[in-house]
Amino acid sequence: MRLNIDELSRSNRNRFTSVRLDRLVERRDDRPWLEQALQADDAHLVPLWRSRSLLSRGDDGTIAVYLHANELSGQELIQPPTLLGTDYKRTYFAVSITDRQRDAILADRPGAEFADLRLASIDMDAKHAGILAYAKALHYWQHRHQFCGVCGSANLLQSAGHRLECSNEECARATFPRIDPAIIVLVTHQDSCLLGRNPRWPAKRFSTLAGFVEPGESLEDAVVREVFEESGVQLGKIQYVSSQPWPFPASSMCGFYAEALSKECGPSDELEEVRWFTISELESAVRKSEVLLSPPVSIAFQLLADWYRKQGGGDLAALCRQFQLRR
Ligand SMILES: [Zn+2]
Repeated sequence: MRLNIDELSRSNRNRFTSVRLDRLVERRDDRPWLEQALQADDAHLVPLWRSRSLLSRGDDGTIAVYLHANELSGQELIQPPTLLGTDYKRTYFAVSITDRQRDAILADRPGAEFADLRLASIDMDAKHAGILAYAKALHYWQHRHQFCGVCGSANLLQSAGHRLECSNEECARATFPRIDPAIIVLVTHQDSCLLGRNPRWPAKRFSTLAGFVEPGESLEDAVVREVFEESGVQLGKIQYVSSQPWPFPASSMCGFYAEALSKECGPSDELEEVRWFTISELESAVRKSEVLLSPPVSIAFQLLADWYRKQGGGDLAALCRQFQLRR
């Protein structure tokens, strides 16, 4: 079976994509508009406390909890709110929260908590998981670049949170949000796929191979190098599949399929075990809990699940829900 969808459609299926927001780039330097938008009834604030997102768990899953600007009015903010964009019903801003503000927010919302988005997003609505991921990525960048990399002076937030500018007027260096490109690849050979096990992962976890793109490399160069370094496998054809924002802490995951020239492989410094699986071997390993796969919110799982379905193996996510603990 061939999935007849293009790269954009495939990427939009990946968790944490937030293309549904109009990012309002043209408004980022429009201060009167920003002040008005922040006070409007449709303004929704995404609070972040120590890189954690405000969530509430209920019978229907995990939901994102937003604040209204008047909840923080008159209080000193760590930084000005960051404009995320609009869905034409609400305008979203991200805001960093102090310990005291956190306590007040939680006191007003029994059952809510500041939690790790990666774990909590498994049963979240895709749109709101994407908005929270977008906010988290900007928050991380803003807090990791508080000082100019050239002269060491303090950086100031500009452009509604999307640009940092050195406060030293003689320097005035601008810094823009940073993301680290990483490749992630499902390697196949005939009817088998290659999964590896990093010793730092939870017990029995096997996943697709992945690594950061290095300076001077194309994405495809990085696929070839990483797969060979991690498994000794040499690749033939490489095909781009889809991408995923991955703000844990600051990656952009670029997903590929690649065909191995042979099944010759071995462990490496990074992977203590690499194994080939046919769909029936993978199904059996999942049923017996010999193998625990990556969480379904990851592109690693999506690449594998699509291959599994195309090979005639059915719904891998349903199989994992039935036989593996949710993690
Ligand atoms: Zn500077």
